[in-house]
Amino acid sequence: MTTVTLIPGDGIGPAVTEAAVRVVEAAGAKIDWDRQLAGVAAMEAGLAPLPDATLESIRKNRIALKGPLTTPVGTGFRSINVALRKEFDLYANVRPARSLMPGGRYDDVDLVLIRENTEGLYVGVEHFIGMGDDPKAAAESVMIVTRYGAERIVRFAFEYAVQNKRRKVTLAHKANILKFTQGLFLEVGRKVAEEYSGRVEFEDRIIDATAMHLVLNPHQFDVLVMENMFGDILSDLMAGLVGGLGMAPGANIGRDAAIFEPVHGSAPDIAGLGIANPTAMILAACMMLDHMGQGDVAARIRRAVETTIREGRARTRDLGGTASTAEFADAVIAAL
Ligand code: NAD
Repeated sequence: MTTVTLIPGDGIGPAVTEAAVRVVEAAGAKIDWDRQLAGVAAMEAGLAPLPDATLESIRKNRIALKGPLTTPVGTGFRSINVALRKEFDLYANVRPARSLMPGGRYDDVDLVLIRENTEGLYVGVEHFIGMGDDPKAAAESVMIVTRYGAERIVRFAFEYAVQNKRRKVTLAHKANILKFTQGLFLEVGRKVAEEYSGRVEFEDRIIDATAMHLVLNPHQFDVLVMENMFGDILSDLMAGLVGGLGMAPGANIGRDAAIFEPVHGSAPDIAGLGIANPTAMILAACMMLDHMGQGDVAARIRRAVETTIREGRARTRDLGGTASTAEFADAVIAAL
């Protein structure tokens, strides 16, 4: 048995987490859950948004499965998701996009985006510049790229490609305009790529052209690696290629801990209605099982999810069906 920190999260989080836990248990995974609170759910229980007990649990277990957390706009606390990534130095954000739903623009997309998770424009180094009587006459955000950060994320992408028998890594950048920050990312990336020459193909592309080519013909790509904000945007684009946010799982991986979660947020517009698609959360649990060495269980769950969706045994509303979150989980369990 492996103990895993379980954070159900806010909004649709508890419902999709419950569905994922039921599926994982029905598939026979060897997991003990250590349930912890964070975000709005923690505050409603009279705790800090990121309680010490939750941090302690992740530090001890080194693996967490997490539902989405609401980040209130304009009030007190900063994003707990960003805080967790920083606290545990979860530098690699792995976001696969694979078609499961027939009838979309493409039937057979199978891509993995590796996003740098700790640097770039999202370091939060920004400020207003006052001029005359306007305190917000200008604003400035700093993009930070370090040789260390660029090297470890590109190396992670190549190692991921080798381990998962992928043929190519595409490094997407904007080095033509941002010659220093993106130039360094590209320079470091090319150097790391040389070490894998003959084993994994490498190419670099400008980020905007990459976005267009992903929509025109996603099959020309395989593994993609890029800085934080570019990865944030393109991973949502890729989720759109395979049926939307309800289908997109993600992993945040560091040296000492890993947190698995759906790419989507807490979806306040449908929270409490019991209609959220739990697929992203279930697939996030599968990535976690792979990471824990229970890849056989993960493979069984993925096959059951795929059968359920492809054969139309159950589909939630975002996929044009009528199944509730719980009914979808029941159908996946039946398919196991
Ligand atoms: P969102 O992902 O919650 O929702 C965007 C749209 O997608 C909504 O229409 C929603 O109903 C739909 N959707 C999302 N997940 C779905 C699912 N599983 N099944 C069916 N439909 C689904 O994004 P948002 O509305 O911009 O953000 C809501 C809150 O979530 C904010 O507080 C934001 O900060 C937070 N958020 C958290 C995370 C995270 O915890 N990792 C990620 C993104 C956003």
